[in-house]
Amino acid sequence: MSRVRTHVSLILAGVLLATGALAQTAAVDKKVAAVEQQVIDWRRDIHQHPELSNREERTAALVAKHLQSLGLEVRTGVGKTGVVGVLKGAKPGRVIALRADMDALPVEEQTGLPFASKVTAEFNGKIVPVMHACGHDAHTAILMGAAQVLAGMRSQIAGTVVFIFQPAEEGPPPGEEGGADLMIKDGALSNPKPEAIFGLHVEPGVVGRIDVRYGALLSSATDLRIDLKGRQTHGARPWEGTDLVNLSADIIKSLTTISARQVDVFDVPNVVTLAMVQAGVRGNILPGDATLQGTIRTFSEERLQRLKELINTSVDGLAKTYGATAQVNFRQQAYVTGSDPKILESIMPALKEAAGAAGVDTQAPLRAAAEDFSYFEREIPGVYYIIGSTRDFKDKASTPANHSPKFDIDERVLAIGVKAQVLTALQFLRSKP
Ligand SMILES: [Zn+2]
Ligand SMILES: [Zn+2]
Repeated sequence: MSRVRTHVSLILAGVLLATGALAQTAAVDKKVAAVEQQVIDWRRDIHQHPELSNREERTAALVAKHLQSLGLEVRTGVGKTGVVGVLKGAKPGRVIALRADMDALPVEEQTGLPFASKVTAEFNGKIVPVMHACGHDAHTAILMGAAQVLAGMRSQIAGTVVFIFQPAEEGPPPGEEGGADLMIKDGALSNPKPEAIFGLHVEPGVVGRIDVRYGALLSSATDLRIDLKGRQTHGARPWEGTDLVNLSADIIKSLTTISARQVDVFDVPNVVTLAMVQAGVRGNILPGDATLQGTIRTFSEERLQRLKELINTSVDGLAKTYGATAQVNFRQQAYVTGSDPKILESIMPALKEAAGAAGVDTQAPLRAAAEDFSYFEREIPGVYYIIGSTRDFKDKASTPANHSPKFDIDERVLAIGVKAQVLTALQFLRSKP
């Protein structure tokens, strides 16, 4: 075959592929429009009946019933209240997972919406108001809609889509396990094992604008706790004991210095915050113990390890100087969340199509917020993106943020979310490993 003919046939193949994808996009548009009102209704219903982390019984039942009605294989009780639905296409192929979180927060709703929550529930021994103040009602409704659209296209799908509805993204109640980690332990990522997982989050911003990055987008979150022990003494004679109050002050200053002066903050940003200091009961007793608690946020695993080393070395050294003993504890809340660059590149046309005129920003600012989704991404590569969801968006400062009692979404984001989930899944299944 001549070079010219090879070229022509390659172009023709490309055109045919593109036309196929275009025809599919038009078909998806129709199916998304058909399911849109239903998704809005689900979102309002879930919004009006919010449930706290690990208590998502009603929501999980709604999800499971819907997935069963679509003919999916459904597993319930995965990681407490989690639901996993498996959609097998007509032909075998790759396996992709789509994830939504289902839990609400102990926040008293002040949106004034006709379907605002009046729900209260027990949390940490107290009765608290409950609200979907982070938009997980939208995520759940979006994924239910995506499942419906994809189930309706089963005959055209080569491959498998796994729908993961997870509890406790905001963290399980004190003393309980839960969230992505527990779902994984309970087999959410096996039978079948997905090759990749996609997740999204609504946030104040232009409706449909997609924020994503080739790499880290959200920080890791590590709890830090330092327990100091020494000899209690009279405040008038500090030399007879151990001055843990002065030691605490030195540790606070040292940790701020580490995060600002001993690592390259232009390379990878980080924050080390001590936000809780407990020492002493009255002004003339130097206490025999003290506790400092805080959080570490950063955007790479290496940086986190380095910060831990530096903190350990500094606290040990300072404690020795004072003749005290120190115990440093780190507890991982979440790891870095972001996108696998190769997979993101392969599904970028789908994201652009879903975002439409609002566009995709691949240079989106890093966020010092953490996501439980990172536990899935430790097992398999993922893509995580944020969709702007504010009616008449002006700026972030004047828009109630996630976790605010006034947080709300423009419901147009629901159809955009469904489209994004469906198109990215289809594009991944079409692409070569
Ligand atoms: Zn949240
Ligand atoms: Zn959230």
